[in-house]
Amino acid sequence: MRAELYELADADFQRGDRFETIICRPVARVARVLVGKGERMAITEDRVRTFDSTSPATGEVVGTFPVAGPEEVAAAVARAREAAAGWAGLGFDGRRRALLAYKALLVRRTDELVALVHRENGKPDADALIEVLMIVEHLDWAARNAARVLGPRRARGNLVLANHAASVEYQPLGVVGVIGPWNYPVFTPLGSIAYALAAGNAVVFKPSELTPAVGCVLADTFAEAVPAHPVLQVVTGDGATGHALCLAGVDKVALTGSPATGRQVMAACAERLTPVVLELGGKDAMIVDADADLDAAADQAVWGGMANAGQTCLAVERVYVVDPVYDRFLARLVERAARIRPGADFGPITLPRQLEIIKRHLDDAFARGARALVGGPDAVRPPYVDPVVLVDVPLDALVMREETFGPVLPVTRARDADHAVALANANPYGLGAAVFAGRRALRIARALRSGMTSVNSVLTFAGMPSLPLGGVGESGFGRIHGPDGLREFARSKAITRQRFPLPFPMQSFDRPGYVLPAVKWAMKLRHGRAPRR
Ligand code: NAD
Repeated sequence: MRAELYELADADFQRGDRFETIICRPVARVARVLVGKGERMAITEDRVRTFDSTSPATGEVVGTFPVAGPEEVAAAVARAREAAAGWAGLGFDGRRRALLAYKALLVRRTDELVALVHRENGKPDADALIEVLMIVEHLDWAARNAARVLGPRRARGNLVLANHAASVEYQPLGVVGVIGPWNYPVFTPLGSIAYALAAGNAVVFKPSELTPAVGCVLADTFAEAVPAHPVLQVVTGDGATGHALCLAGVDKVALTGSPATGRQVMAACAERLTPVVLELGGKDAMIVDADADLDAAADQAVWGGMANAGQTCLAVERVYVVDPVYDRFLARLVERAARIRPGADFGPITLPRQLEIIKRHLDDAFARGARALVGGPDAVRPPYVDPVVLVDVPLDALVMREETFGPVLPVTRARDADHAVALANANPYGLGAAVFAGRRALRIARALRSGMTSVNSVLTFAGMPSLPLGGVGESGFGRIHGPDGLREFARSKAITRQRFPLPFPMQSFDRPGYVLPAVKWAMKLRHGRAPRR
């Protein structure tokens, strides 16, 4: 069957692509081949389509999954919508108990989940465990805080409407489509799913085509923990399935993915005015100021840049160090990065296509005069990439501008902290950032154009459930996590209630003639004076 698929494929078939492993079974023959983003999927005449998910390290088949087309997606949305009313009707307390039961079952299954993430995504068990640890905290926080953040609360009235009480509450949207990436197949989608469910929505989840097994286990575990409420539906497939979800009449789409996909999702959602929240890529900067703890900064730069083989949206992808400590920081960084071992400290590159991007970024940097202090031009050894520390990289090199998504750290000398901030901000992405500094740390953190900044650590904001997470510019918009993340999946509902009628109604055709002049006089008295200096 695979040979047949290859025969049908055009010359531009990408050999390194994971979709090489897509096969059709158990049906008879391939009718046509779809081309999208360099990938191919076989479509069979009787429309039964499946794809295999494989281990990026060994090529072993992890599982075979159906490719959901528009009809299957519509059916999943219909199932979710049917379940949504009962879930919303549970109220905050009922949902809190259900989500805590889900959390507890996930925690009891940690070992199996970690092993599956390792097999399907390739990352070491330790990295997979960190994902699970972090998302458990989010699930817990979302479950316990939804009532406080979203529940009805009184709003202050004003003088003109003094006879009215006011309140605001946040109601569920209905059905939320969550489209996930592969790099953190547990943490990332659940970062939307947990908050959407806690806000009272049902969810249709489309995991990445590279990690469908993890996605299905997340949904199956929910079904087992909360059997009465089938509000977490899953559909598997590639971008076409995600596209179908955007068009399926869901009430919001939450995408975590690349900016290119973000544009496509937004365009598709525009058809029905479906709102979107877009968590997209990053090119996060770290700034090291003169009074920083250089050992800590070097340690965190290596971890932030190279953990998960650099395949982290919030990975440190650029380091700017002020001149007085540049050489001392670099020596510490090089010593640490040289000790990192691919295959042990981090796993393979999950998406084979990414190997070409990393190589292109390295080749471009070397062609423009960059020097490698760790690694070098041969760092890309599929499926692994060795750690690379680069210096003397021109600011317009690809590795300084575009998401590399590999264990590559370019380090740049800055005159001072302001110069470092200006260099860091001169990039269309704006997801996270890190600052290692003493006295000026908070000032630098505020000046960085990013959704989140950590001071004297990396990535900590992602593990802090009370904080919002999201980007600016090419990194997307909208927020997940924290109170903002709960509100992202709810609509505000404002209610005013007249407590007693006024003897002189303003909003009536029967208004006496003196009312408006009196109100105008009162307005001038109250608002007409400029503030005293
Ligand atoms: P991707 O954009 O290729 O795919 C993401 C998801 O979108 C997948 O499930 C894919 O099937 C789906 N998709 C693709 N085309 C689609 C379309 N036209 N309509 C609807 N869905 C479509 O990204 P990826 O390679 O899976 O993930 C890596 C990217 O995700 C990186 O850019 C990374 O920085 C980003 N990311 C961001 C965050 C964050 O929180 N901001 C977190 C993790 C990853």
